[in-house]
Amino acid sequence: MMKIRAAVLHEMNLPAPYAVSRPLKIEELELDPPKRGEVLVQIKAAGLCHSDLSVINGDRPRPLPMALGHEAAGIVIEVGEGVTDLQKGDHVVCSFVPSCGHCLPCQEGRPALCEPGAKANAEGTLLSGERRIHLHGTDIHHHLGVSGFAEYAVIARNSLVKVDPEIPLDKVAIFGCAVMTGVGAVVNTARVEPGSTVAIVGLGGVGLSALLGSIVAGAGKIVAVDVNPYKLELAQKLGATHVYNSRDPEVVHHVRASTNGGVDYAFETAGVIQAMDIAYRITKRGGMTVTTGLPHPDHQFSIPQVTLTVEERTIKGSYVGSCVPSRDIPRFIELYKQGRLPVDKILTDRLPLDQINEGFDRLARGEASRLVVVM
Ligand SMILES: [Zn+2]
Ligand SMILES: [Zn+2]
Repeated sequence: MMKIRAAVLHEMNLPAPYAVSRPLKIEELELDPPKRGEVLVQIKAAGLCHSDLSVINGDRPRPLPMALGHEAAGIVIEVGEGVTDLQKGDHVVCSFVPSCGHCLPCQEGRPALCEPGAKANAEGTLLSGERRIHLHGTDIHHHLGVSGFAEYAVIARNSLVKVDPEIPLDKVAIFGCAVMTGVGAVVNTARVEPGSTVAIVGLGGVGLSALLGSIVAGAGKIVAVDVNPYKLELAQKLGATHVYNSRDPEVVHHVRASTNGGVDYAFETAGVIQAMDIAYRITKRGGMTVTTGLPHPDHQFSIPQVTLTVEERTIKGSYVGSCVPSRDIPRFIELYKQGRLPVDKILTDRLPLDQINEGFDRLARGEASRLVVVM
């Protein structure tokens, strides 16, 4: 057993600003050694993602207390029994859905839908069904099998992907959530064709990654929509051809007018119904609306059903960008190395673990696209 520092959430729904209410407490936890199929990882960097914020603000209820953080990268320190394909010193990035490799979705090539993985994530355990972190002897829940806002973590082998050690780990971390989710939505879920028109509604880390993915996929017009003028400016620098503020009551009209009646593919990445509504209404007849957002489970999205029929519309959900992490992360990293997927441009800042609550304030206010805690 070793002692580690980690960020723990004891109570959801504390009021912002988090710099004052401090929902995340930096605690000294006890970490068990890795058991069968598990790996001890020294975490070097972990990104602040909206799905952490959704647990903090209660939109995505999870069992507490929980050590948060699911977008992390680090170095292998020790492997448990049965782990033969990783060794001490390897650089790894975490995938936030562990895949067992045996259930029906895994066999169908859809590990994002892994059934034991979903169960473990809902219950706050590792894939084994067990917990390896404790506070004064009481179990602490794992966040999505990672709990990366920590100096060290014990993680299932099946939650890890080995990466090229040449890439700095603060950049590697964001491949685990933002890049897989955003780029994957474009290339795997939608399969955007060269020349097609694309819109992205919501320009956080996932939305900006979807924008970069659309450029790689060869999209023609790329429309970016957000409430924040700073994000729209960044989107333009990254290659968006048109940008619109979603607070403009005419935003749907503007997008439709500039894209000859709507886009082929619209991506909703904000996780709010208003964004999904805009995304659906700016999709053209015959087009596809893809959502990667995670709104509160009680929130309902409604559409005139007839449009699905007479306009041959498609609405598609995309979880982890429909990725196979061990296949897609190396592909996306290769594109990054070639300069074709410059995801480091969406990294706003690096923070120490002690400033994590301040970091979530910046994320909640939309002042940052991706903040990374570095250990
Ligand atoms: Zn995430
Ligand atoms: Zn599975």
